[in-house]
Amino acid sequence: MIANEPINEEKVKRASAILLELQKELMAHVEKGSGPFLAAIYDDKGNLIAKEANSVVNEQCSNNHAEMNTIRAAEKALGTFDLAPRNLSLYSTAEPCIMCVGSIMWSGIREVYYGVSSERVEAITGFDEGFKHNWLEEFKKRGITVYGEVESAAGEKVLQEYVDAGKKVYKPSR
Ligand SMILES: [Zn+2]
Repeated sequence: MIANEPINEEKVKRASAILLELQKELMAHVEKGSGPFLAAIYDDKGNLIAKEANSVVNEQCSNNHAEMNTIRAAEKALGTFDLAPRNLSLYSTAEPCIMCVGSIMWSGIREVYYGVSSERVEAITGFDEGFKHNWLEEFKKRGITVYGEVESAAGEKVLQEYVDAGKKVYKPSR
């Protein structure tokens, strides 16, 4: 596990429970055509604000990563482009890609917890997660907490299942 602040056991415990639940739900979304990524946003009282899977293929939109869909749904539900005053945390089954890191930064999300690292996602699936320079430090500068590789073994197992099932690794042609 990695983090950009001293490890807080309470946060790790909560993140483990939520991420294991998301990993468990993920294959049901995949069966309906979603990509193998699921994200959720919770407030600081533990209320679920939004939860969305990757819908790039289902909706034919390259922007529709799980984190993007979840942030969009949360902002719509709360009626604001600035989530910061709501003290929200985003949980994602995998490390946010280059696009989602940007999206999280501009959303006002205060805490990010993810499962599988981009390096492992790329090794297992062949998806391209992009290039991210020092994003944990950059987030820290902006007051955004990040805990990564939480329950990553469970996450890797689901990604392997996705590949073994012969599901699509969609990407632009080059
Ligand atoms: Zn992404």
